[in-house]
Amino acid sequence: MKVTGVACHLLQAKVDRPFTSARGWLYTTRSSCIVEIATDEGITGWGECYGPAAVNRTLIETQYAPRLIGRDPFDVEVVWEELYNRIKDYGAQGFAITALSGIDIALWDIMGRATGKPIHKLIGGAQRGEIVAYATGLYFTDMDRLVEEAVEEARSYVAQGFRAIKMKIGLGDPKLDRRRVAAVREAIGPDVALAVDANHCLSVPQAIRLGRMLEPLDILWFEEPISPEDHDGYVEVTRALDMAVAGGENDFTRWGFRDIIARKAMDIVQPDVCAAGGISEMRKIAALASAFGVECVPHAWGSAIGLAATVQFLAALPDQPPAFRPMPPMLEFEQTPNPLRDLLAREPIVQRRGIVTVPQGPGLGIEVDRTALDRFRVA
Ligand SMILES: [Mg+2]
Repeated sequence: MKVTGVACHLLQAKVDRPFTSARGWLYTTRSSCIVEIATDEGITGWGECYGPAAVNRTLIETQYAPRLIGRDPFDVEVVWEELYNRIKDYGAQGFAITALSGIDIALWDIMGRATGKPIHKLIGGAQRGEIVAYATGLYFTDMDRLVEEAVEEARSYVAQGFRAIKMKIGLGDPKLDRRRVAAVREAIGPDVALAVDANHCLSVPQAIRLGRMLEPLDILWFEEPISPEDHDGYVEVTRALDMAVAGGENDFTRWGFRDIIARKAMDIVQPDVCAAGGISEMRKIAALASAFGVECVPHAWGSAIGLAATVQFLAALPDQPPAFRPMPPMLEFEQTPNPLRDLLAREPIVQRRGIVTVPQGPGLGIEVDRTALDRFRVA
């Protein structure tokens, strides 16, 4: 089998109710670069790249696509090494890797479709057929009702059956953050897990202080307390706090994660399959993490394609650690408005009572709806 074509689709969808993160980014649209790879056997594979879509498209069209034509998709890691080594002098992190991630996912999708097997069967097999999902949300929307809106949103996730929730923090006032998290904890009760995510808006002392204030509220993990470049700072925060510290959605490849993992700068690493290097590289990062006793719980923030790739990866990820009653790695099921997540697959991945069933169809296990693709495509 040979690759005959590589196409990038730039998709964008308006968000009905814009929301803000602790970084001050106002989300009014959701967009993505979707990669479609065609072969001479009529099999097409799909992938997705994290981050600004037009840049990913340019990188793929100018740097990667010409080197992909004629290649056998089953040489996926040969292709990965070759493309990476052609680009790393100019970008061993960031866009060069997000663009490569979309290609890698599409090649795995092709291999799955060619063999009639879901990707998780090609990367070691099914550790589980069902994945516990946690709801990501509780951003900042109505600045006059920050506590009330968080409580209402958290209650809606519990009503849907979610057993775990991740909320945004980082309001520039630790007392307000504490009040808001405490109100959510009170509303959801003691049996629903609660994680917090600061989107790296804090300094080391701010993170340690806020972390200590939040620890009595039984927090599952403290995500991205500080800037991703500051590995020394992560070591300090992780050692200072009793609760788990997580991060890694802005890190890339096995080399980018190596020092974080070897120094145990985080208790939990969260590589994103659409950013860190695709399925091929996620496996290597997870193996590194396992060797050093660090948990790997993937980040996910994308369309139906990125979500499906994350589900396939999670299906094959071993329990960390194995146990009689393990606490298996959870799926980040982002709940903010995103038509690209909800409408791009003909049968979208859904949760029921907080559980996602792993699709058993070939490749990613979803079929892309070309009508939706056309509808959201940016001219
Ligand atoms: Mg995050």
